[in-house]
Amino acid sequence: MSDFVFSFEVYPPKKTAPIEVIYEAIAQLSQLKPDYISVTYGAGGGAATASATVEICSLIRNTYHTETVAHLPGINLTFDQVASLLTRLRAHNIMSILALRGDRRPEDCVLEQEGDFHYASELVSYIRELDPRGDFSISAACYPEVHIEASSAAADLDHLKLKVEAGVTNLITQLFFDNRVFYQFLDACSVAGIDVPIQAGIMPLTNARQAAHIIKLCNPHIPADLQAMIERYQDDDASFEAAGIEYATQQIADLIDNAAEGVHLYTMNSASTARAITDSIYPLLGR
Ligand code: FAD
Repeated sequence: MSDFVFSFEVYPPKKTAPIEVIYEAIAQLSQLKPDYISVTYGAGGGAATASATVEICSLIRNTYHTETVAHLPGINLTFDQVASLLTRLRAHNIMSILALRGDRRPEDCVLEQEGDFHYASELVSYIRELDPRGDFSISAACYPEVHIEASSAAADLDHLKLKVEAGVTNLITQLFFDNRVFYQFLDACSVAGIDVPIQAGIMPLTNARQAAHIIKLCNPHIPADLQAMIERYQDDDASFEAAGIEYATQQIADLIDNAAEGVHLYTMNSASTARAITDSIYPLLGR
């Protein structure tokens, strides 16, 4: 059980808020001793976004001595910027990257610049070109419920295999709420010959507004018991939060029972939510 990877994801504060607002969350999340904490790179990009990601990763790695993973979305980055970011990350002893394509979402963001990468696989190949010794470990994203733009599940899997072959060391899934979907996806990856470790992305739903936003954004399958919970506690924030944390905890316990290789918890920067989950889950992992 000790090989099970349990990690957290945090995001830099919005541009209108000072970066310090996340410091307390990171201090508390580090105390929970995850295997690593990954830091997202805000859609839209730009130099300030890159600096926020590097600064937060450095705090996690060098102040709290916790492993960290920097998200890099190629849609925002030029070849030169990726090269310079790798140099900055290396200087801060940050040697793990989540290589992504990134999203263009006109409704909530304007790209500050066009990047040089059309697909995440191109970014993975370029990083491997710049880092022939393989000093950096490169994670990538995958989609148990199929990426929204893919023409079919088979095409998405073909693209995923090409991405992994470009030099990916492990995969992290998009959030999902139905473990059966994840188990089917693992089987499909195995048949396709995708053999790197796959961490399950789990997001606790902690209030009705966040749940509605996530469901609209990602369109995941919502099992009947989760749907009933969402409806039952629509107007009762405290009960919604407790039930959402319980649902995520049960999901993770089931993943552990079924020999999943790891879980990546989308913490939404909430250390109290992460702590409530690890309090129940760590004993199952012998931690
Ligand atoms: P890709 O692997 O490039 O796939 C994108 C689409 O292109 C898929 O439909 C795929 O099937 C298709 N495709 C791939 N290769 C080819 C090809 N050669 N020819 C034709 N089609 C192809 N976004 C951010 O902006 N910042 C973040 O920090 C961030 N963190 C994330 C963390 C996780 C764990 C996950 C799951 C997602 C994250 N995202 C983030 C969102 C991500 O950027 C989007 O989901 C994006 O739409 C796809 O990124 P990708 O790296 O999976 O893309």
